[in-house]
Amino acid sequence: MKKSRKEIIGNGIETIKDFDNSFTSKNYRGSVTFKTYPTNDQRKTLEDSCPTKALFPIKENASMGLDNGKCIMCGYCNEVASEIIEIHSKPAIPTRNRNQLIDYSSPQIFSTEKPYEQIGNELKEKIQKMFGRSLAIRQVDAGSCNGCEIEIAALNNPIYDIERFGIHFVASPRHADVLLVTGPASRNMEVALLRTYEATPDPKIVIAVGACACSGGIFGDTYATTGGIDKIVPVDVYIPGCPPRPQVLLQGLLLAVNRMKKVE
Ligand code: SF4
Ligand code: SF4
Repeated sequence: MKKSRKEIIGNGIETIKDFDNSFTSKNYRGSVTFKTYPTNDQRKTLEDSCPTKALFPIKENASMGLDNGKCIMCGYCNEVASEIIEIHSKPAIPTRNRNQLIDYSSPQIFSTEKPYEQIGNELKEKIQKMFGRSLAIRQVDAGSCNGCEIEIAALNNPIYDIERFGIHFVASPRHADVLLVTGPASRNMEVALLRTYEATPDPKIVIAVGACACSGGIFGDTYATTGGIDKIVPVDVYIPGCPPRPQVLLQGLLLAVNRMKKVE
C-alpha cells in the first residue's frame, strides 16, 4: 500500500527541505527567544546556564543580550527558565555583520520563510547574471566537529541537489569563488586557513558556517582555538546555528552573492 508523505516522515526527523510546522519535529531547536524581560535573579541564572556565554546581562538597562553567533542550541536556558526563554523551531538568519547576530530584546527569526527552491532559483539567476557561469565553493574544515559538514554535504544529496542552481564544490581553493569555513579555527588550522584564503583568487567571499566559525562556539577562545575564523581571515557572511540547516546555508550563499560585484 502506498504511504502518504506524512506517514513516511511521521517521526519528523527525516530530511525535509523547508520549514513547515506539520513536518518539522516539535523538538527541533532553531533559535532562542525571550518571552519577557528577566528579573535580576533570572538574569544571573540564565547567564550561568549558558555554556558559551551567548546570554549576557546588559548593565545599562537591566536587560539581557543574546548572541546568536555563540548559541549552540543546547536548550539549557529553556530548562532553567522556561517562563523567560522559548526555543523556536525556526532558525536565526545569516548576517553580513557579526554584530547583527546579537539581539537585545528578541532574536531574529527566519521570518521570510522563503522556500528552498525559491532561494535556489534566485541564486541561480544571480550567478548567471554576475558570472555567466557557475559559482565554485571550497569548503574548509578549520577544526569542526563535523556536524556542520553533514549539513553542507546534504546540499549535494538528491533532496537539496545544489548543483542544479549552478553551485559546485571544488577540490582546490584556486578554483573557488567562495570559501565556506567551519570550525572555531583551531590553532593547528590557523596557517592552513590563511594559506587557503591567500590561494583563492580575488574577488572572493568568505562565509563563516556555524557557531564555531562565527565565535568559537562550544570550543570558545582557548589555548587550542582562536575563537572564530574572523580572527584569521576577513569574513563576509556569518551563518549562525549548530549546525545550520541546508536552507539557511543557501540563504547565507544568497547573501554572499548579493555582496559580490559583477565579474567583467
Ligand atoms: S540554547 Fe543557546 S542561549 Fe540557551 S543556554 Fe544553550 S547556548 Fe546558551
Ligand atoms: S557549529 Fe556546532 S555542528 Fe558546527 S562544528 Fe561547531 S559544534 Fe559542530
